[in-house]
Amino acid sequence: MPQKIVAGNWKMNLSLTEGLDLVKGIDACERDQNVRTIVFPPALFVNAIGARASGEIEVGVQNFHPESEGAFTGELSIKQLKSAGATIGLIGHSERRAYFGESNAFLKEKVDAAVNNDFEFIFCCGEPLFIREKNGELDFVKNQLNESLFHLSAEQIQGKIIAYEPVWAIGTGRTASSAQAEDMHKAIRSWIVEKYDQATAESISILYGGSCNRSNANELFSCPNVDGGLIGGASLKADDFCSIINAF
Ligand code: PEP
Repeated sequence: MPQKIVAGNWKMNLSLTEGLDLVKGIDACERDQNVRTIVFPPALFVNAIGARASGEIEVGVQNFHPESEGAFTGELSIKQLKSAGATIGLIGHSERRAYFGESNAFLKEKVDAAVNNDFEFIFCCGEPLFIREKNGELDFVKNQLNESLFHLSAEQIQGKIIAYEPVWAIGTGRTASSAQAEDMHKAIRSWIVEKYDQATAESISILYGGSCNRSNANELFSCPNVDGGLIGGASLKADDFCSIINAF
């Protein structure tokens, strides 16, 4: 069975003090212990947030560079991030794709760097609105996965995490319906079966992201192929985030 996971992407929000308060609040609330809980603060705060979080909350990074060191001003390598306590990174978030020009080919490099450095990741995929409006979402997402993730061997892809995040639902308050989410998640799992096998497909958690909140999480998480959520705005308040964790 895929792991149940709820992850909070703080994006470029919160001061250090606010982040420390947030993680303290998440720690303090009663949470379903069967749900893996991960927070993605700004990289600058990873060390401090990790020191404040109990061992039950994992701390990851929103970005990393695929090279291990060198002249990449402003960037951070996996080795550096691991040394500060990060255990997992996001790859392919739509904001990195759109605002920082991260292509499928570059994301493949990040996937390979993560695998080679034993660094866990959540691979994000999802279609923009104009693609959904012409019913092209399945082909679009399949292509993202084919070009950046599905080159891994069955052994390498085992237990990995994918987040389906329709771009039109991120930060817009417009959530995908549970039927839309389930259709895509089911398709993703079927592509993994086709490319690898059933056991591999069942080892991979497929999270939904896009305006998921305390009111709609239960319906989304009730879908058979939705294994949790990648949460943006609603992860910035401890109560909301904990309600989402407890929504299974
Ligand atoms: C995200 O940024 O990954 C996200 C899902 O954001 P939001 O929940 O705010 O739509």
